[in-house]
Amino acid sequence: MLSQEDVFKKLIAHCKEYGFVFPSSEIYDGLSAVYDYGQNGVELKNNIKKYWWDSMVLLHENVVGIDAAIFMHPTTWKASGHVDAFNDPLIDNKDSKKRYRADVLIEELIAKYDEKIEKEVEKAAKRFGENFDEKLFRATNERVKEHQAKRDEIHRRYVKALNDNDLSELRAIIIDNEIVCPVSGTKNWTEVRQFNLMFTTEMGSNADSAMKIYLRPETAQGIFVNFLNVQKTGRMKIPFGIAQIGKAFRNEIVARQFIFRMREFEQMEMQFFVRPGEEMKWFDYWKEYRMKWHKALGLGDHKYRFHDHDKLAHYANAATDIEFELPFGFKEIEGIHSRTDFDLKNHEKYSGKNLKYYDAELKESYTPYVIETSIGVDRTFLSIMASAYTEEKLDDGETRVVLKLPPVLAPVKIGIFPLVKKDGLSEVAHQIFEDLKFDFKCFYDDKDSIGKRYRRQDAIGTPFCITVDHQTLEDEKVTIRYRDSMKQERVKIDQLSAILNEKVSMKNLLKQL
Ligand code: ATP
Repeated sequence: MLSQEDVFKKLIAHCKEYGFVFPSSEIYDGLSAVYDYGQNGVELKNNIKKYWWDSMVLLHENVVGIDAAIFMHPTTWKASGHVDAFNDPLIDNKDSKKRYRADVLIEELIAKYDEKIEKEVEKAAKRFGENFDEKLFRATNERVKEHQAKRDEIHRRYVKALNDNDLSELRAIIIDNEIVCPVSGTKNWTEVRQFNLMFTTEMGSNADSAMKIYLRPETAQGIFVNFLNVQKTGRMKIPFGIAQIGKAFRNEIVARQFIFRMREFEQMEMQFFVRPGEEMKWFDYWKEYRMKWHKALGLGDHKYRFHDHDKLAHYANAATDIEFELPFGFKEIEGIHSRTDFDLKNHEKYSGKNLKYYDAELKESYTPYVIETSIGVDRTFLSIMASAYTEEKLDDGETRVVLKLPPVLAPVKIGIFPLVKKDGLSEVAHQIFEDLKFDFKCFYDDKDSIGKRYRRQDAIGTPFCITVDHQTLEDEKVTIRYRDSMKQERVKIDQLSAILNEKVSMKNLLKQL
């Protein structure tokens, strides 16, 4: 059995070998935590974005989209709190010189205790069989009780330290629990310091008048500053939402997990403006809706869970993450936050402009409350690739690598092959390509054996391959071969479009929401 770490390494290699993800500027040895999407990666990414955009903007009559600039007036980030508070607590190991996030080190320790407890429970469940009383076991087993007490104590201190912004207490938790650096294995830690994650650059050609500006660390603020523009020009009535997809930049302290944590990444965010006091109802609505969106992809419901925040961000009164089980554990893919009226109120304060909404029904003006859904395109991409990557032993003893991507998201939908290049088979295959290319991303291939051509498509997740053979010339039928089952079936050429459309249509996926 491959360890999860090996699986992850293989996945990274696969992403590169098959044109999904390349290290940025690789000929110069790359740039840390920056990646480029290749010919297949960009298709998958675009399909993910379309799924999200359509689910928000097509399916909700009260949600519209915008595309705001990456550069924003610097006061935006003062108002949003990012200049003063968008920090991570960092700690260095003096021996390995490696840098870590203090909060992550502690969270990993807590997760280790959780794992230990679950292992004990699993073992006992096996031992006692049907008579197992899990609740009783958890309450009485000495080892479980011990782990639980330790875990709870660390958790209590951790939450308090975060809420008090107490950096020396964070360090004390690390020291007291003997957390070691995974590289050097030592406990030789520096103090914990705050580190602001925003990138800066300068705008303007003249050194004297150049203005320091930030690369946006989230897309949300572009929505807030346009709140009234959209509301007025779109005649939007509360509740309504504004959706946006775009790049964001963060100078992450620790960026070692491929596209999970990048310094340049892409977000899909939606801010939903509601009446004050109604935010919890909408928070629950969006929580449920977003989870449904994920699960509809069919990667396995058990791979998702909610994780409520221990420490609420400076702007939030409720927050939860949707986590996905990646090869390195359950990790955040999406955040859902109730942001109160924090952002709009602060933009009013800093800009001196009135951003209130007049509610004709209530006959009063107020600053709306906001529910935000914020999901990373790249993390979604990673979650899909990680669950799709499969190595299968075949009956003939060979192994095939197949990406079991949701067909609707696959970069290439259909591989089209003439069995041989001669006898007019290429012409028929080309004609099929010409007919299908308006609706589906197709790939024409006439090199090597059919078996090899199938394998190449398996490796990039193409759900269907069509083969034109000699019999096609007589009965106008081709063979469809299915990626996952490898089953083959003969169908009429003029039925192809309808059959394939049924299986890869975005509409069918969206209808599940
Ligand atoms: P983390 O705690 O993992 O740093 P976060 O809580 O700071 O994440 P948010 O600010 O809630 O993340 O951002 C919303 C979403 O944007 C995240 O759920 C994630 O999918 C994505 N995201 C955030 N930072 C990164 C990054 N450095 N690389 C890739 N995606 C990211």
